[in-house]
Amino acid sequence: MKKDEILEKLKTVIYPGFKKSIVEFGFVKDIKEGDTPVIDVEIVSARPEVAKSVEDEIIRVLGKAKVNITQPKPPVEKSNTISGKNIAPQIKHFIMVSSGKGGVGKSTTTVNLAISMAKLGFKVGVLDADIYGPNIPRMLGSENLKPVVVGQNIRPIQTHGLEMMSMGVLIPEGQGLIWRGAMIMKAISQLLSDVSWSDLDVLFIDMPPGTGDAQLTLAQSVPVSAGICVTTPQKVALDDTKRSLDMFEKLHIPIAGIVENMSGFLCPDNGKEYDIFGKGTTEVIANEYNTEILAQIPIEIALREGGDEGKPISFYLPESVSSKRYEKAASRLWEIIQNIDSNSLADNSKIQPTHS
Ligand code: ADP
Repeated sequence: MKKDEILEKLKTVIYPGFKKSIVEFGFVKDIKEGDTPVIDVEIVSARPEVAKSVEDEIIRVLGKAKVNITQPKPPVEKSNTISGKNIAPQIKHFIMVSSGKGGVGKSTTTVNLAISMAKLGFKVGVLDADIYGPNIPRMLGSENLKPVVVGQNIRPIQTHGLEMMSMGVLIPEGQGLIWRGAMIMKAISQLLSDVSWSDLDVLFIDMPPGTGDAQLTLAQSVPVSAGICVTTPQKVALDDTKRSLDMFEKLHIPIAGIVENMSGFLCPDNGKEYDIFGKGTTEVIANEYNTEILAQIPIEIALREGGDEGKPISFYLPESVSSKRYEKAASRLWEIIQNIDSNSLADNSKIQPTHS
């Protein structure tokens, strides 16, 4: 069989899970003609079953062939690879919620995603590690609740189906601004190890904005499963978003996705969405970092009111536009962290699925 003929046949070998062939993806690296043609293929999945299926299919279309498949090594690094520490081993998944700057809706996102995930039936906790503005207790209507101390440990506050603990409990209001490196690091460690979190499926951690000591401490103290970056769609916010995503990469934290907040304005009078800040700008960055937009949340008055009044929208107005989008994002996030667990996200994130 001639090379061209072999190539034509290989064009019918579809890469598992996608609609394009191994030729279209550029995975076929070399073809040697002969009685038994030799095909060199380099795929992006580390999973043995994907390699097996590609090999079987090549042999099926060619009749006879020797197939050499090169695969990447499975990603084994976790954020705590170097330290090897896990100071809260009873928790299955740690999700770091970050933003390049303050005021973009990071806490709002954390609270509503956490509630949406709890509604799916998972055991969920929220750790408010935002030292500069620990406002999760207020958003959950529990700012006046005092946590109970049992022996050496603090019991997390139970609210809206979640366990919650906040930096605000450890530091008097307004003092966070004068805290520096070592103090922040100690506080984060304590919030993880001295709080009696139960066997949670997911702990969402609302980080201080930016990229600093808190992020590093967290990444070294526990194996962070995934990071979520919250941003607004203005072009000027994009550099901050990139810095956040770069930080995840440096800390070996798989990126679960971006939440584009204040993405359009939902007019309460007519239910229409108006594009104020330039919706959808984050898509380019999501592509650049091989990740996705988990949700586009509009400016919705009920969302702000819910935050101010301690009545989170996902709990009290489950039918609202934002609540529905948070719900969808929570299901997708669960899917993503399962994939990260079984390494398949790292495999598939390197190529774009052919939706079109
Ligand atoms: P961050 O944690 O990034 O500092 P917050 O979550 O505290 O930001 O949000 C800042 C303010 O903006 C809060 O008053 C919050 O209720 C409001 N807000 C956040 N997202 C939205 C939204 N999509 N629609 C309306 N208000 C919002």
